[in-house]
Amino acid sequence: MKGIRRRLAAAAAVLATLTIGLTGSPAGAAPPTATPAPAVVDNGDVYTVQQLPNGQTRIGLHQHAGNAEALRNSLRAQGKNVLAAGQAPPGQRMGLLACESYGTAVQWCDHAWSYGGFNDPQVYFLDHTPAGFPVTDAVNDWYQAVGIDAYYRWYTAGCPGGGRHCVHVRTYSPGPDEFGVTYWNANAPEGPVDVYLASHMAGTNQARKSTCHELGHALGLGHNSSTNSCMKQGRIAAGWSLRPSSQDFEVLKRIYPRPGT
Ligand SMILES: [Zn+2]
Repeated sequence: MKGIRRRLAAAAAVLATLTIGLTGSPAGAAPPTATPAPAVVDNGDVYTVQQLPNGQTRIGLHQHAGNAEALRNSLRAQGKNVLAAGQAPPGQRMGLLACESYGTAVQWCDHAWSYGGFNDPQVYFLDHTPAGFPVTDAVNDWYQAVGIDAYYRWYTAGCPGGGRHCVHVRTYSPGPDEFGVTYWNANAPEGPVDVYLASHMAGTNQARKSTCHELGHALGLGHNSSTNSCMKQGRIAAGWSLRPSSQDFEVLKRIYPRPGT
C-alpha cells in the first residue's frame, strides 16, 4: 500500500509540474512559484455533502466496513455527492491542530452542541430501532462523559424541548460496506443531528460497536485511531473495544469545558 501511495504522490507531483508548465506566466514575467501540493492522507473519513432547500448544508459522516475508498465509490454510484479523501466539508477544518484532541481521540472538527441554558449540553437519543440495536447500552456508555449529558428515550416519548437537543436513531439498509452514518449540518450548534445504523448488523458485536461509534459522532467526536475505542473506523476484530475510551471522554471534556453538574 505504501509503495502505491508513494507512486501516486509522485504521479501527482509530475501532474502539478505539467499544469504549471501549461498555465505558466507569459514571457518576461516572473516565474511562478511552484507550491508543492500537500500529500493527500486518507484518514478514513467518508463524507457526503447535500445542499438543503433551507440554505443549510447537510454533512454525512459515514462509517465504512474497512475500506474508505470502496465506500466512497459505492456512495458515488448511488448518486451522492461524496468528498474525496482528505477534502474538508464546508465549514469544517481538518486535522489534529484544527480541533480538540487528546491522545488518539479527536473532535469532529467544528461540530459541538450549544449549552441551551444548561451547565452541560443535554442530548436525548430518541430510539426508533428494532431489537438487535443496543442503543440503551451505548447511551449508558456515553452517559459517563463529563461535560455533556446523554440520555435515552424511546422515540414515542418525543423531544422534551426547552433547550434540550434530540438525536433520532434509526436503522437503514445500506450495502455491506457501510455500517452507519451521522448527519450534522454545517455550522449547526442546535442540530439537527440524525443517526442511522445499518440493519445488516442486527444482533452482532458490530452493531454494539457501531452504535457506540455513531452516538459518539452525535456528541461531537471524530475518529479515534486506536482499537481501544468504538470511535475507530471499520469492521471489528478480536480485541477491538466496543466502547468509548478514556481519551474519547477527555476530548468531550475539552469540547464542553464548562463545569457541569
Ligand atoms: Zn465514523
